[in-house]
Amino acid sequence: MTQTFDAIVIGAGQAGPSLTSRLTASGMKIAIVERDKFGGTCVNTGCMPTKTLVASAYAAHLARRGADYGVVLDQPVKIDMRKVRSRAATVSANSSRNVENWLRGMKNCTVFHDAARFEGPKEVRVGSELLSAPRIFINVGARAAVPDMPGVHEISYHTNSSMLELERVPQHLVVIGGSYIGLEFAQMYRRFGAEVTVVEMAPRLVTREDPDISDAVRDILEREGIHVRTSAECISFAKGNPGVHIHVSCTQGPPEIMGSDVLLAVGRRPNTDDLGLDRAGVALDPRGYIMVDDGLQTNVPGIYALGDCNGRGAFTHTSYNDYEIVAANLLDGDKRRVSDRVLGYALYIDPPLGRVGLTEAQVRKRGLPYLCSVRPMTRVGRAVEKDETFGFMKMLADPASKQILGAAILGVNGDEAIHGILDAINAKTPYDQLRWAVPIHPTVSELIPTVILDLKPAPVSSGSA
Ligand SMILES: Cc1cc2nc3c(=O)[nH]c(=O)nc-3n(C[C@H](O)[C@H](O)[C@H](O)COP(=O)(O)OP(=O)(O)OC[C@H]3O[C@@H](n4cnc5c(N)ncnc54)[C@H](O)[C@@H]3O)c2cc1C
Repeated sequence: MTQTFDAIVIGAGQAGPSLTSRLTASGMKIAIVERDKFGGTCVNTGCMPTKTLVASAYAAHLARRGADYGVVLDQPVKIDMRKVRSRAATVSANSSRNVENWLRGMKNCTVFHDAARFEGPKEVRVGSELLSAPRIFINVGARAAVPDMPGVHEISYHTNSSMLELERVPQHLVVIGGSYIGLEFAQMYRRFGAEVTVVEMAPRLVTREDPDISDAVRDILEREGIHVRTSAECISFAKGNPGVHIHVSCTQGPPEIMGSDVLLAVGRRPNTDDLGLDRAGVALDPRGYIMVDDGLQTNVPGIYALGDCNGRGAFTHTSYNDYEIVAANLLDGDKRRVSDRVLGYALYIDPPLGRVGLTEAQVRKRGLPYLCSVRPMTRVGRAVEKDETFGFMKMLADPASKQILGAAILGVNGDEAIHGILDAINAKTPYDQLRWAVPIHPTVSELIPTVILDLKPAPVSSGSA
């Protein structure tokens, strides 16, 4: 027998539960289906456990640097990896449980703990149950991509999920992929005591960022003893005894690396291949992402896709923002659009990179004059006081409209301080108005007005981008 609802939500990630809460509160009868752990990637295998591990790694790093601050430790720093791991697992488990309890206690909400699969544009099969609703919201997320590199299926490798199960420090961790996820793991495991090599196919790390950022990130990692191999155009794997041989064709360095463990961090793949989307007639792009319009509706009226699976964002806050857009348009009569979103994000190495808006390369592509200001963290009092002076603050602005176009803060507290700029861009505040602010001393944010004062016309034919 078919169970009928006002709407079905597939996936309890970062958009699904909040959307369910708003829809049920408006009086609708909702079914939410989750096949795995409640809270999805962020809570269970992404942001929360990794940031907990990053915090443990930072504690180890600071302990080793104790003498720099006049804090003397008589013993070498030891890592209790079981404790490190269980701390992260506890943070995730508590959060996942909270999401599940929240949903199970929600009035008008029926929770199904199983995989969902479309049977038609308004029907979803969950185990032996057939559910039907005029509206269906897909929030199925993504998973680690396994690249088609020679030998990859002959070796045992880690992904972000299996790394979280490790209760030991690898002797030599080889991270394939020098981008956001790979670099976080690389630095934390170096700080836990592993030898670490990052292998990146592109000529530089974090290629979505400007070259000055890539260079500074590389410098930060190399100073901690992480080996970085860029331009690794041909990567292949062979089983070692023990460990893994990783063949890299780089412009520099020996052609082979021997690792005890391999982490694949080369991108994500949407969880859209086993959803039966063809039965509903939902269109995918060539990479498997669900195609949506500016209000996140698919080509099938009544079916929406939110979060990582629509390819319009790859972050917890973009998934949550997708929920806000859909809820506002359906329930509040708003006309919100994804294309209005000002994208901000962070790279959680230490010091972190906080980013918002356009990169310098993107600004240059516009072909219009622009202003640029860069301030090294060695000239930020708070960073000097903390003896954490790596990185820089950078801002790009439009001299005609006086709008800030983009900014980066690679430095201590950069992930927090960037929000002052993010808010200004969102509010479309002209940059010269920010100069009137009286920021708190001593903070990283207090230098934002100074960075603005230093905005200068950028030379069109040279520079970092
Ligand atoms: C290591 C790592 C670190 C990260 N760190 C950050 C960070 O610091 N900040 C940040 O903003 N983002 C971070 N991210 C990205 C962030 O985790 C994701 O962008 C976010 O979780 C996406 O949320 P979502 O709602 O789209 O999907 P998800 O959170 O992935 O949720 C999707 C849910 O759908 C379920 N599902 C899938 N298919 C089905 C089905 N057929 N039936 C029923 N249920 C199904 C899944 O089990 C899952 O629970 C990180 C990711 C990783 C991997």
